[in-house]
Amino acid sequence: MLFVITGPSGVGKGTLIRTLLERVPQLQLAVSATTRAPRPGEHDGVDYHFLSDVEFDRRVLAGDFLEHADYSGRRYGTLKSELDKRDVVLEIEVQGARQVAKEMPEAVRIFIAPPSEDELRVRLIGRGHETPEQIDARLAVAKAELAAQDEFSHVIVNDRLPDAADELERVVRAAL
Ligand code: 5GP
Repeated sequence: MLFVITGPSGVGKGTLIRTLLERVPQLQLAVSATTRAPRPGEHDGVDYHFLSDVEFDRRVLAGDFLEHADYSGRRYGTLKSELDKRDVVLEIEVQGARQVAKEMPEAVRIFIAPPSEDELRVRLIGRGHETPEQIDARLAVAKAELAAQDEFSHVIVNDRLPDAADELERVVRAAL
């Protein structure tokens, strides 16, 4: 089974997915490739496969990606080799989720939404990973992503984290 979990940056996808993986141990998270720089504490091959632009292009041309997209000036993609695992979870943005929907319509697609745009801004600032310019860029992308949530069969609003985690687990267990 393939689970695609998407939603704007800062919505809490990462935390929800970590909880999901603890609760449903048979799930495996695909390690994406990206051309962005590692953040402190991130490790190559664990958090992402960190690739140069040249290497990313080479792998696109080689047909190695299930999907790939540009996001805030950087490139991100899911390598087909990550799908060799069983019961895989992809954490990706909306353009990639659309590509997966075409390639693998059987995938379960879940959108994590913030309670409001203001709350999303507060969370992105609180996370402290990005500069104010990067936060503005991510919020601009987020607006477009929020407009796409109707394309998803499951929408989970991450207002209270424990409630959202329970709902995500319920959706996944029902599909399994
Ligand atoms: P971040 O830089 O915060 O790790 O990720 C930025 C955005 O890229 C997030 O919305 C994340 O879900 C998305 N992303 C991460 N990996 C992939 C991927 O393999 N494919 C696509 N399309 N998006 C990804």
